[in-house]
Amino acid sequence: MTGGCPTVLGNGNLVPRLRGSIVKVRADNERCEAHGQCWMVDEDLFTLDDDGYSTLGAGVDVPPGKEAVAQAGVDACPLQALRIDA
Ligand code: SF4
Repeated sequence: MTGGCPTVLGNGNLVPRLRGSIVKVRADNERCEAHGQCWMVDEDLFTLDDDGYSTLGAGVDVPPGKEAVAQAGVDACPLQALRIDA
């Protein structure tokens, strides 16, 4: 059986958390234009290279409990370059 409490995000959306599932956040490098808005939300999760472009690439694991922060960073990107995979 799968299950688990959903995580309520700042925008009121729910991210379903399946027991043992890993939430990932990824960046589309073709869209990123180094605005740094994601980094301002959480500089440890939304890492940038020396030129200010996202280094998330194909995806990094979101630490448990930081799902709402991850969503806030995704929402902050003006180019919709970030995405969460649950
Ligand atoms: S906010 Fe968007 S455009 Fe800016 S660095 Fe982050 S992913 Fe790139």
